[in-house]
Amino acid sequence: MDGWGTMHLMAYRREPSRSRRWRKVSRWDTVQDQGCWICTACRTAMRSYAYRIHPADSPHYERCIGLSWCSGCGVYTGATVHVPRDRALPDALAALPPERREWLLASERRLIEYLDSHMEAAR
Ligand SMILES: [Zn+2]
Repeated sequence: MDGWGTMHLMAYRREPSRSRRWRKVSRWDTVQDQGCWICTACRTAMRSYAYRIHPADSPHYERCIGLSWCSGCGVYTGATVHVPRDRALPDALAALPPERREWLLASERRLIEYLDSHMEAAR
């Protein structure tokens, strides 16, 4: 046993077994309904989140990761998206301790599972 590090890791590992339900796809069918996109298969509103992966002084700063998903079907897409430098992106992980953030950002499935259960539906 090597103390706190291991214990934290184990606690995190145990938590998100649900993250396995997410399946990455290149696209799924959505239709626009009263200003928001909904899944044609289950009628759940599509949800999305974009985050920066490059530091502000990087020439790639505007290249972000954009995720979108359907909680009903458990499918998601992840792609590089372009977000202008002057547009502030809300940081859904801002309140989390750094090691927790890192842990979530290390896996798209974990991140989506977290966002899906902590974010308000974008309506
Ligand atoms: Zn669906």
